[in-house]
Amino acid sequence: MIAIPANPGRGHLLRCGPGESILDISKHQAIGGFLALRKALSMQPAALIDEVKKASIRGRGGAGFPAGTKWSFLPKDNLKPRYLVINADEGEPGTFKDRYFLAQDPFALLEGIAISAFAIGAHTAFIYVRGEFVSEMRVLEEAIEQMRRAGALGRSVLGSTFALEIYVHPGAGAYVCGEESALLESIEGKPGRPRNRPPFPAVAGLWGCPTIINNVETMACVRLALQHGAEAFLAMGLPRDGGPKIYGLSGHVKRPGLFEAPLGLTLRTLIYDFGGGTLDDRPIKGIIPGGSSTPVLGPEALDTPMDFDSMKAAGSMLGTAATTVFTEGTCPVAVLVRIARFYAHESCGQCTPCREGTGWLERLVESIEHGTGRPGDADLLLSAANQILGNTICALGDAAALPVISFVNRFRDDFEAHITGQRCPYGAA
Ligand code: SF4
Repeated sequence: MIAIPANPGRGHLLRCGPGESILDISKHQAIGGFLALRKALSMQPAALIDEVKKASIRGRGGAGFPAGTKWSFLPKDNLKPRYLVINADEGEPGTFKDRYFLAQDPFALLEGIAISAFAIGAHTAFIYVRGEFVSEMRVLEEAIEQMRRAGALGRSVLGSTFALEIYVHPGAGAYVCGEESALLESIEGKPGRPRNRPPFPAVAGLWGCPTIINNVETMACVRLALQHGAEAFLAMGLPRDGGPKIYGLSGHVKRPGLFEAPLGLTLRTLIYDFGGGTLDDRPIKGIIPGGSSTPVLGPEALDTPMDFDSMKAAGSMLGTAATTVFTEGTCPVAVLVRIARFYAHESCGQCTPCREGTGWLERLVESIEHGTGRPGDADLLLSAANQILGNTICALGDAAALPVISFVNRFRDDFEAHITGQRCPYGAA
């Protein structure tokens, strides 16, 4: 059994506190680096996949799909090369957890990649890094070079018969490139537009070959699960959601940042214990629990455990567990203007409900905020959002629609006050 660290700013995944880093391979080795990789290389890949399944690692990119199950979707009779692609295109507003690994602890990520690549039989892995993370890409390149020199990458990983190369690929500068199939298109040198599915990437991904796409934090979880064993990892979370989680906190709180805790931490603990409470101790008006695309909750949700199933039952999603808090006195329509503008800007334009609908949502919310909304516009917003929901090629459509539906439903009085008063009652506009 592994104890959960008392200091929420550091832990098993967050090995560095603020201002610290592990950029030298000897520092990584001094704290148990590559023990997990050595253990993995001594196992059969099938047993390794079973271990990851036993650890119940649910993907940390937002969807929460079990990593071991995803790996087992790879076709057994396909003789094409297999690829492992790491999604480090962190672009969801409010989310800043993967950047920590890229900037401060790259070896935890790289070791997790080596273990996962061995498990799925991939000899090439790509890390697709958000284009703006220029210094993080340099850190990664340097860490990869150190691993090569130490024999932890290349033709014989740690003296084994397993060969692996890892390449850093700069992102193309669009949020939608973080959608897994758009990301594959982008690596192939094409515009980053999501693909129709099926086929799914596990069957026909990069250059038509079987491909597994995992999130950065998921890779760090794989390393941790192997180092300590599936049972110990599982004990650090919930029976269906194994392991610790990195939580982000931003907005109107006293102590924003990243915190590690078991899955199932309540919003109250995150905001009041870890985050020190709200600015000026103001009452909470809204909580966006897992990135800007997750439906907004109110203060009544403070005791909801932050795990995939509980957040769903509460009417939202865990998403990336990057929580943004806004307090009383904040105009929710102004908050939604920013969110709607973001998704309208980031739509790739490939499918009509998203291309046209996100623009509609943006214009309608802006008009309400600026005092030119008309009676019935709140219902019109709901109608437009519901026509996008579930009718698009990728999840960006839903990501644009869900916040609108939740904001209008939760803050209906505020929307109507803008419309009847023909101005923003908060003075935000
Ligand atoms: Fe592009 Fe939006 Fe359609 Fe996704 S939902 S494919 S972002 S237009």
